[in-house]
Amino acid sequence: MQGTPQSRSSSSNTIGVGRTDTVRCYCGIPAKYAASKRTRIGDKYYGCPLWPRGCGFFMWEHNVVVAVNDNRGSGSTQMEERVEKLIEEKTSMAEKLCKLKVKREKDAEEIAALRQQNRMLNSDCAKHAKKENFFAVALIVSWLLFIFVITIIMNLA
Ligand SMILES: [Zn+2]
Repeated sequence: MQGTPQSRSSSSNTIGVGRTDTVRCYCGIPAKYAASKRTRIGDKYYGCPLWPRGCGFFMWEHNVVVAVNDNRGSGSTQMEERVEKLIEEKTSMAEKLCKLKVKREKDAEEIAALRQQNRMLNSDCAKHAKKENFFAVALIVSWLLFIFVITIIMNLA
């Protein structure tokens, strides 16, 4: 059944929480609180509720320091956590920005391609228009020639 998750952090690590805070795993969800059934049987621990998937968070209960009891130690841990979270947020923001940038570049490429197409279509249109003009002129000229020839024939007759 439920095993003991492998610890990502060493057992000497502690986690700081406020008195009213719940222990959260690295996924940001409240950690599972259970008693060990294998090593240190009966000892309580917090773990990622998504184990064996999830973030692999594992912490013995006695390593969870309530901030009120130990302001010095846990305070800095909390700070470190906050900094870590901020860095994570920044990283994800940077990733999002990167994705947006790539998308924008793609969009720009598409726009350039469309513009190119548009230009080609325009030149095609111009060619067609020229051709049409040419045919119209040719038609008129041939009609004039025809009338001219008819008139000459009529005069001769
Ligand atoms: Zn987790």
